[in-house]
Amino acid sequence: MNPQQFELVIGWLYPTLMSTYGDRGNVITIERRAQWRGYNVKVVSLDQNSTADDIKSVDVIVGGGAQDRQQEIVMRDLQGVKAEAMREKLENGTPGVFTCGSPQLLGHYYEPGLGKRIEGLGILDLVSVHPGDNTKRCIGNLVIEVTASRLAQELREMTGTTPYLVGFENHGGRTKLGKVEALGKVIYGLGNNGEDGTEGAFYQNAIATYSHGPLLPKNPFVADWLIQTALRLKYQQPVTLSLLEDSLATKGREAIFKRLKVNLPTPALQN
Ligand code: GLN
Repeated sequence: MNPQQFELVIGWLYPTLMSTYGDRGNVITIERRAQWRGYNVKVVSLDQNSTADDIKSVDVIVGGGAQDRQQEIVMRDLQGVKAEAMREKLENGTPGVFTCGSPQLLGHYYEPGLGKRIEGLGILDLVSVHPGDNTKRCIGNLVIEVTASRLAQELREMTGTTPYLVGFENHGGRTKLGKVEALGKVIYGLGNNGEDGTEGAFYQNAIATYSHGPLLPKNPFVADWLIQTALRLKYQQPVTLSLLEDSLATKGREAIFKRLKVNLPTPALQN
């Protein structure tokens, strides 16, 4: 099949409520990188006006960060059949990238510094608690090595090297993982809680991270993994993406590693 016969539908969770710190860039990156290869792309908002069928219709899901108040509004809406549709999608391997406030909502609960606990969807086995306004937020650059085994393996196959991600974190909540696998281990920054060295989570094909930045323009191979995984699942056939010229992103990553004085044990992505 030639690329024009494929269509990738991106589901964007609550764009007006959950797009802090430029997370919209993740949607744009997936969209453009798929279009540059000739695939048809549609972006669908999944919000208060959407139905469970709208959620079921998408091929890849993007959820950004949010303030505590917005998270509460989202959780009041993402109930019942919509919550079930979301669970079904992720359990069945629909790929997605969920940043900061979104993974908190995919976990069991989020306890804000002020106010009541917000119950999550319980899809990811994790809990997040904000220790209160007297505690420092976790803010700053973030570098991780992806350690989630299948994802690390697939990214290594795509890039030929160890997958390191760069990003920027800004969160008050601290996340503790249950049985879910961490996305990676922290090389620079604080990650899930500043204590156990874990960052994010990986479940089926859902990538959860504290990394804004936004994540994907800085780490374009992750966008490619999402596109490839989504198209393989949808069309049930091998899909291999053509290479794109990413030297600018690679230079940006190298500059960050240098600025943070991060000495990587193996070379970061070359292009
Ligand atoms: N409200 C959450 C926290 O501070 C999420 C913030 C965010 O998404 N950047 O932990």
